[in-house]
Amino acid sequence: MSQPPRIHHFIAGEFTASPTARYFDKRSPVDGSVIAHIAEAGQVEVDAAVSAARAALKGEWGKLTTDQRVDLLYGVANEITRRFDDFVAAEMADTGQPSHVMTNVFIPRGAANFKVFADVIKNVATESFRMATPDGKGALNYAIRNPKGVIGVISPWNAPFLLMTWKVGPALACGNTVVVKPSEETPLTATLLGEVMNSVGIPKGVYNVINGFGPDSAGAYLTRHPGVDAITFTGETRTGTAIMKAAAEGMRDVSFELGGKNAGIVFADCNFEAAVDGIFRSAFLNTGQVCLGTERVYVERPIFERFVQALKAKVEAVRYGRPEDHASTYGPLISQEHRDKVLSYYRKAIDEGATLVTGGGVPDMPADLAGGSWVQPTIWTGLLETAAVVREEIFGPCCHIRPFDSEDEVIELANANDYGLATTIWTENLSRAHRVAEQVEVGVTWVNSWFLRDLRTPFGGSKQSGIGREGGVHSLEFYTETRNVCIKL
Ligand code: NAD
Repeated sequence: MSQPPRIHHFIAGEFTASPTARYFDKRSPVDGSVIAHIAEAGQVEVDAAVSAARAALKGEWGKLTTDQRVDLLYGVANEITRRFDDFVAAEMADTGQPSHVMTNVFIPRGAANFKVFADVIKNVATESFRMATPDGKGALNYAIRNPKGVIGVISPWNAPFLLMTWKVGPALACGNTVVVKPSEETPLTATLLGEVMNSVGIPKGVYNVINGFGPDSAGAYLTRHPGVDAITFTGETRTGTAIMKAAAEGMRDVSFELGGKNAGIVFADCNFEAAVDGIFRSAFLNTGQVCLGTERVYVERPIFERFVQALKAKVEAVRYGRPEDHASTYGPLISQEHRDKVLSYYRKAIDEGATLVTGGGVPDMPADLAGGSWVQPTIWTGLLETAAVVREEIFGPCCHIRPFDSEDEVIELANANDYGLATTIWTENLSRAHRVAEQVEVGVTWVNSWFLRDLRTPFGGSKQSGIGREGGVHSLEFYTETRNVCIKL
């Protein structure tokens, strides 16, 4: 049998590991086998990556016109599309999620993240104000955008390529350079993107990748590094707190996309089939490992029982299997460690008095998949809103469903949580949709849909779900330093 490959850092255009590099195992979520040995960056490698990124700012990259940069980023998008199958295979190996999720959502979005932000930087103007002065001649103000410098990008494992490029695309479009620290669970597509950068001629040092863990490892070294000008992070709220402390040193800017405990709101006047489909996707896509996912579902009482039964039927029809098998509709969790966390909530739900509608444990899997981190998709009813399972982010394939009786009640229920990332509302009453959408305290609201993303729109969380907005011009706000020039006429 062939040995699993070694995955190295990508620094200054080269795949490198220091001679003393330590390696850690990357295991397949599907069957638990070791699929790669990943080099773990220490301070030396992080220093090298940040130096390469700083040098690139002053080199050829820093001298390109916006048009030239835009052309290069179009080249990156096209090369990702040309190597589509390689990216799909790498992401499937890392996450174990079914191929249709990769081919329809995650990999195309990676390519789009370069195209869209190339278009944004090319087409969005900066402001200009003419002002009066006492001498009657006036003055002209205009704003210019400059890159912020070296951006530290820290990304999670749940949609690795989509979420990493969502940051790298706009950062590069704005003329910055980046050092990316992908999740230790999912390093493969960030590595592959290094090959793409080289083949389309992105100058060396513009895109760098260092691998490793968070605390006392690559993540902490990067966020503490004085050569990093700003940090963009997606991950858990607790990690965001640690990164914010690191960023305070040197007064570095942060953009945070954090956890969620999102409410799905289903009114009795909804299109029933569409609502069941929508909530099914929002709770169980990617095995429930989507920050925007719905772990709290509120259903208006007249359709409550029917809704629970319809969702149960869909959940019980998922097909477990290897990601490359086109019949599979449902994958494993990312790791055994994450499965332990999810199963601890499954036990807690029962301890807290939940009624188990379906799932609740580990499925029987064939011998070749028994080493994977599989869990059953799970639905509960009957819990109080104070239950940990209803308040805390589980980040697994599960939801609690509760009936409600009025619009005011459901708005209060939806808002009674520390997180404020997203919501999905199902109703055929347009006035009600507007009313409720305005009152739910989240950054992203969908009506009669979920995860429908126009990349020009603001994206981010309120309360403990994040700081700042990215998307369209909002990304330009974070990835550039806007300066005003005032000319006395
Ligand atoms: P995580 O916070 O454990 O890890 C995210 C990244 O941070 C990883 O690369 C990790 O190595 C790194 N990291 C961990 N500790 C660090 C430290 N002290 N210093 C620097 N880096 C550190 O999150 P995860 O488990 O990978 O991802 C799941 C979480 O991400 C969930 O909470 C989910 O809701 C959230 N998420 C949010 C969004 C959003 O857009 N709001 C999108 C996807 C995921």
